[in-house]
Amino acid sequence: MNNVAWIGLGHMGVPMSAHLVKAGHKVRGFDIEESAREAARAHGVEVSGSVAEAVRDAEVVFTMLQSGVVVEEVLTGPDGAFAHMPKGSVVADCSTIGIDMARSLHSRAKEHGVGFVDAPVSGGVQGAEDASLTLMLGGDADDVARATPLIEQIGSYIVHVGPSGDGQAMKVVNNAMMGISMAASCEASVLAQRLGLDPQVFYDIVLRSSGDSWAFRNWFPLPGVVPTSPSSHGYEPGFMIDLLHKDLRLATATAEEFDVRLDTARTAMRLFAAASAAGAGKRDCTALALELGARDEPEAASV
Ligand code: NAD
Repeated sequence: MNNVAWIGLGHMGVPMSAHLVKAGHKVRGFDIEESAREAARAHGVEVSGSVAEAVRDAEVVFTMLQSGVVVEEVLTGPDGAFAHMPKGSVVADCSTIGIDMARSLHSRAKEHGVGFVDAPVSGGVQGAEDASLTLMLGGDADDVARATPLIEQIGSYIVHVGPSGDGQAMKVVNNAMMGISMAASCEASVLAQRLGLDPQVFYDIVLRSSGDSWAFRNWFPLPGVVPTSPSSHGYEPGFMIDLLHKDLRLATATAEEFDVRLDTARTAMRLFAAASAAGAGKRDCTALALELGARDEPEAASV
């Protein structure tokens, strides 16, 4: 049994931390939202009143937060985790925060005598619930070795990619592809609908044809076909449009730095940005299909 802290008890954090509770670890959690704290409590997480309290005797501190800015806020500063974790303990950050932020947090962790592993995940809420996530790790071998026995309880494919930042590098590239295929699935589904194709028939055929992708298969954006897709649950997240937009922003900014154009990712990013500006940022990313459908309605087009 280990003492574990879990900061960020949202769509992913709750099901992921619940696996550690089930495996017999003592998990202290913290989130700024009462609804999140309540959900974690229901899964056996001992909820703390602050980050400092949650991490004080933790061997491994997991963070699962929206962005690099939030992770930095939670880890650094006088009330942050780095200042209150026991020396020799390690942070496993499962959030998607980009390469530079991961490397910067890795250096700052060292100054406090603690470790930092970038450990972003792929597989969505379903993967979090099934403990079938893929985790791509970046960091020092000894830190990775300390975090891995716990990480093995929340994922099924775990790879130490390389030094600090390399996990994020993998994730940024993967999510550029996922964001593009999600946008393509939404556009194609709107077209199929407009052509009068039955959504179930459309789905079944594409699944056995060359248009298939992970995003299409798991997060089909028309309701009532894939029971586990957020589209079949009122487009409640899941994976919010604002988070996918953030990932595409990370990918295009990284590509720019390395003189790669990434034009398709840039187009997908613009589509998700427009959906967010229209007020759909907190809906699941499959709701892009609703936004595109409304945008492309014949009456709207003729205005
Ligand atoms: P989420 O918004 O549901 O959860 C984040 C949680 O962090 C929220 O409950 C929020 O209240 C909490 N939080 C914010 N500021 C905080 C603070 N200062 N202290 C403590 N808690 C704070 O997001 P999510 O969907 O769980 O995603 C989390 C991360 O995982 C993101 O970086 C996302 O890109 C990545 N990710 C998400 C999915 C997915 O399918 N949802 C899949 C892979 C990766």
